[in-house]
Amino acid sequence: MISVEEARAYILQHFKPLETEYVALRDALGRVLAQEIVAPNNVPPHNNSAMDGYAVRAADIANATPTNPVRLRVIADLGAGYMPDAPVESGTAVRIMTGAVIPPGADTVVRFEETSEAVAHKATGKGSALVEILAAPERGANVRLAGEDIRADEIILPQGTLLRPTEIGLLASVGCARVPAHRQPRVAILATGDELVEVDEPLPPGKIRNSNEYANAAAVQKAGGIPIRLGIARDNLEDLTRKIRAGIEAEADMFITSAGVSVGDYDIVKDVLNREGEMRFWQVNMKPGKPLAFGLIGKTPLLGLPGNPVSAIISFETFARPAILTMLGRKNFARPYVTALLQDRAENHAGRRNFIRVHVTRRADGEYLATTTGEQGSGILTSISRANGLLEMPPETREHKPGERVKITMLDYPEEN
Ligand code: AMP
Ligand code: MG
Repeated sequence: MISVEEARAYILQHFKPLETEYVALRDALGRVLAQEIVAPNNVPPHNNSAMDGYAVRAADIANATPTNPVRLRVIADLGAGYMPDAPVESGTAVRIMTGAVIPPGADTVVRFEETSEAVAHKATGKGSALVEILAAPERGANVRLAGEDIRADEIILPQGTLLRPTEIGLLASVGCARVPAHRQPRVAILATGDELVEVDEPLPPGKIRNSNEYANAAAVQKAGGIPIRLGIARDNLEDLTRKIRAGIEAEADMFITSAGVSVGDYDIVKDVLNREGEMRFWQVNMKPGKPLAFGLIGKTPLLGLPGNPVSAIISFETFARPAILTMLGRKNFARPYVTALLQDRAENHAGRRNFIRVHVTRRADGEYLATTTGEQGSGILTSISRANGLLEMPPETREHKPGERVKITMLDYPEEN
């Protein structure tokens, strides 16, 4: 049986970043740049004031103090967004707002707080023809220089950058309205099983609800893919084949099926893979999640997840998520981990890589604590729902004792609390 690492490496050989499309900046969150972005202009585009105050010539105010103020004639009032219409000559100042263009001749901005505007009885301010400067900030103070953030023709974001809100803002600041990004993968999702009924149907005797389709579709979405729901295929070759063909019609980049890959009488996903395409392997040395089929239908990879809901979720996490991120253009998809003090015993008698569900909290002193979330059966959805991390025990590790420091892969990183 192949190891988790071998299976993942093998699967990922079948995926590459998808073609480039241009995405409206508003819709680009979470996408990955398919090309580097070069700034067409300086940011900021012009020298501008970092404060509300007076634009002056530093030489004029070199000796200004509260007891020895320098009086300047105010020649204009300038708000952000407007061009100055006269230069600041010696002995003059422009009353200026944050973001407004520094007028020619001025080289320094004195904040209102360091002028007579802050002294009530001096009665200067908006509209007055004079101002007293009470301090001598150094030349260039409170002036933001053109291009100090971004220079025209500079590469601001390399190819492969994941677009977070900050990058969206950065792209907007250089006028990049349409973003070259790798296309989002279309992931066809198919549940299999005669026992399955839809969530909104009554539950007849002998049946269970189709939860995997929902968990898988949500996981596809969370990873950045587009789920295409193919519904439920019954445990017979005809129905399964028909639904797989519908996925091809829908131009899926990948199939994710659940169940029907084990060794039972009605486990026919493998048969369909072998008939309609080619299967490459169907078991991985892990727990939960040993049954896992991988193969190709034409050129489209098919990942046959196990049916047990927790096995499906952990197998998705381990194999499908990296595949989706690869198609999106992501290169690093390792989850963050924390080193935590284990609060209870964790055992591994399976001789397989065991993924133990844990809940991690952060103690006031900064120490992370990991507690197993109870019954670890592959059908126990509640215990994965209570978990925010996984403790991975390699096949040869039999036990971790309470108080041991263990590495926890975080599925949801703990927020400050
Ligand atoms: P199988 O791999 O077909 O033997 O299924 C393994 C287990 O997973 C069985 O108990 C199935 O009833 C269950 N199962 C299969 N498909 C789903 C599904 N879509 N949602 C929830 N449980 C499922
Ligand atoms: Mg079945």
